Amino acid sequence: MGDTLFGKIIRREIPAEIVYEDDDILGFRDVNPQAPVHVLFIPKQPIATLNDATPADAALLGRLLLACAAYAKQEGFAEQGYRTVVNCNEHGGQTVFHLHVHLLAGRTMQWPPG
Ligand code: AMP
Repeated sequence: MGDTLFGKIIRREIPAEIVYEDDDILGFRDVNPQAPVHVLFIPKQPIATLNDATPADAALLGRLLLACAAYAKQEGFAEQGYRTVVNCNEHGGQTVFHLHVHLLAGRTMQWPPG
């Protein structure tokens, strides 16, 4: 799978509101937010979908979730709660084929998600 617009965000070729960055992960606000807080956490080395992750990516996948939790604590909504989501392929609703974790917060989420 080739480059996506998230690659352009990593390279600063298109703008994004970046709220988190470390050596391997970038977090930026979703352009079409589905909650008062909606941030996408992505690995800087692209993985197209969750199906394409390998055991070598296990630590990175864990760190994506830990980055979400760290951000939630930093921003003060960790105790109130939040949702993390990884959409995979058509039935999952994935539209950008650079694996990302959605972090949604600031309202009560529904279950099932529909
Ligand atoms: P998914 O449907 O899980 O692949 O999620 C892709 C997400 O990327 C959607 O929530 C979009 O709103 C978001 N998105 C698309 N383009 C941009 C962009 N340029 N900057 C920030 N978020 C974007």
